Amino acid sequence: MPDQPIIIIGGGVVGVCAAYELASAGAPVTLLERGAIAGEASWGNAGQMAIGHPPIPRPGLAVQALKWMFDPQSPLHISPSAGWSMLPWLWEFWRACSAARLAKSMVTLAEMGRQTKPLFDEYIEREAIACDYRHAGIMDVFRTEGGAAGGRKFVEFMQGYGFDAHWLDGAEVEKREPAFRKGVVGAALNAESTSLDPAKFVEGLAAGATKHGATLRANAPVRTIDIVDGAVHAVVLEDGERIESSRVVLAAGIWSSSMARTIGVRIPMQAGKGYHRDIEQDGPRLTTPCVLAERFVACTPIENRLRLAGTLEFTGVNNIMRPARLEALSNAAHEYLTGVDGKEPITEWCGLRPCPADGMPIIGWAPRVKGLCVATGHSMLGMTLGPVTGRLVRQLVLGEPLTMDMAPLSADRF
Ligand SMILES: Cc1cc2nc3c(=O)[nH]c(=O)nc-3n(C[C@H](O)[C@H](O)[C@H](O)COP(=O)(O)OP(=O)(O)OC[C@H]3O[C@@H](n4cnc5c(N)ncnc54)[C@H](O)[C@@H]3O)c2cc1C
Repeated sequence: MPDQPIIIIGGGVVGVCAAYELASAGAPVTLLERGAIAGEASWGNAGQMAIGHPPIPRPGLAVQALKWMFDPQSPLHISPSAGWSMLPWLWEFWRACSAARLAKSMVTLAEMGRQTKPLFDEYIEREAIACDYRHAGIMDVFRTEGGAAGGRKFVEFMQGYGFDAHWLDGAEVEKREPAFRKGVVGAALNAESTSLDPAKFVEGLAAGATKHGATLRANAPVRTIDIVDGAVHAVVLEDGERIESSRVVLAAGIWSSSMARTIGVRIPMQAGKGYHRDIEQDGPRLTTPCVLAERFVACTPIENRLRLAGTLEFTGVNNIMRPARLEALSNAAHEYLTGVDGKEPITEWCGLRPCPADGMPIIGWAPRVKGLCVATGHSMLGMTLGPVTGRLVRQLVLGEPLTMDMAPLSADRF
């Protein structure tokens, strides 16, 4: 049915990038978003476009996670009460934390990073999106010799995949960013990375998609996808409205798992909750987006505020904010930066990253359901990989040639 729209479920960065790509190619598109466009994880994330960044599972992390389990201020927290339900996911996560698996994942993530960056440049320029897009790179800043040793290895690791990464010693970091307290040992600079205001980017691109002919509907929650004879037939909204379509893109972030389950498709993911606290910084302000490396806290200057963001908390699909996690952000900032103490937060927020156990996005046709394309599972890299995901969805759905090997991203790997 050529005049049936392609339905996209979910108006986060992934759904909006897919809508933009499909609409720009002239395809009829309707995006259905339960709440506000960019209202969930895509709203308050750290806004760091970490080009070529590795996935969450990496050697040593499984053991470290066990040590952190009972520390309320630790950057990674797996609730002991999550219990048996999380065991299969944890087992797969543990298996993915090997050097061999990391090397394999990096081939795909590096390529996605290379393809996503020019798309940001193109979208922001073409749609004149005012989102404080900065090209200062991202610095992982270290205050300990042990951390710095790891940072130097990280530079070599990134260079090994062809990225422009280099090591800055403490004096260079302090000269470049006087906002740091004395005592920085050094920083790994990923020069190709960028930053932006994530909500403004997604909202701006949504306006662009509309301009190119897409229909974007907020406050339009989808109840289910109607399958007839093993093929997508329609999407049914909570109020009973049916929209017939033979092509649906499921881009509902962490909620993709539960929606897929209702139609017999397995997309196992856990919600990786993260927090932000925006403050105004006094004195010399940070200009380069950073990660306070020993504390795993991202600091992103966005317009006239500083966004502190981080923690990875596996405590189910909920928006409960734990004050200790927010305090951990401020404590980390105090340790590394000047002008950040005693600040009244401008905003405090939490959001849910859609995390498959192997750390790899899920982009591809769903098994056994003709016409259902899945686009989710980006964990900590969804903002960065949104545009390339949108482009890949367009290629799949419109039958265009693929610009990369998508086998490692397939939706039937579970
Ligand atoms: C603290 C924090 C910091 C982060 N920092 C970064 C960063 O610096 N760089 C980076 O690349 N990534 C970062 N991320 C990760 C990034 O935010 C996510 O990977 C990304 O936003 C996921 O986008 P999404 O579109 O898949 O999901 P979401 O943004 O969650 O969007 C999914 C949408 O689907 C909608 N939906 C759900 N169910 C339905 C339904 N039934 N009907 C209709 N709509 C529905 C939801 O309302 C939601 O709007 C961070 C995340 C967090 C939490």
